[in-house]
Amino acid sequence: MYGIGILKGLWVTLVHFVETFTEDFRWIGKKRYYSEEGVAARRSKDAKGIFTVQYPEEKLPVPEEFRFIPFLVYEVDEEGNKHDRCTSCGICAKVCPPQCIWIVRTEDPVTKRPVPEPVDFFIDVDICMNCGYCAEYCPFDAIKMDHDYELASYDRHAEHIYNKEKLSKPVEYYASIRPANYTREEAIKAAEEAKKAEAAAAKAAAAAATAQASGGEQAAS
Ligand code: SF4
Ligand code: SF4
Repeated sequence: MYGIGILKGLWVTLVHFVETFTEDFRWIGKKRYYSEEGVAARRSKDAKGIFTVQYPEEKLPVPEEFRFIPFLVYEVDEEGNKHDRCTSCGICAKVCPPQCIWIVRTEDPVTKRPVPEPVDFFIDVDICMNCGYCAEYCPFDAIKMDHDYELASYDRHAEHIYNKEKLSKPVEYYASIRPANYTREEAIKAAEEAKKAEAAAAKAAAAAATAQASGGEQAAS
């Protein structure tokens, strides 16, 4: 029926408006009302009603699925060496709608074979429209969407073309901003590894059985 959507919207607005007062009354008389903790709670993302946030001194936390400019994930091994997850496959650059990613590949100077890790990786953050396609399509979980939205600067050319150094962040950072996504991806990877190990063990057992059978036949003849 026409108009139901408008009524629903008005109802949400009305509830929001009323909660502005009821939420304040709920806190009145409590010792924590003017404390830092009280103010933070009344201005957190879970607070109800309409309230003002004194940005940039105050900032509301963003939800896990919030996405801004992408970043590249790297891992550090036991010896302290950094390893990019990126393999320079170029899928992210291909799917990026405004074509704001470009990758600089390299090759081994001796073998002349391509090296998986890119020598550089650029994103023009003024062109990026935060769609998240690059992160969605990356087969190696190497590019993820960041929560950092404070990118303003006076210099568009020097500051807003992010290179690999500026884009790279450790996997621990990714786990801290997107814990649910990280846990889910790690569980999938662990399940895949277990499946591969199981298949390899079955193959090895079959090969051993074949070798044993052919050994027995040779001994009989
Ligand atoms: S970030 Fe992912 S999709 Fe893009 S080049 Fe690297 S591995 Fe490929
Ligand atoms: S978020 Fe979208 S626009 Fe930005 S780099 Fe990724 S694919 Fe391109």
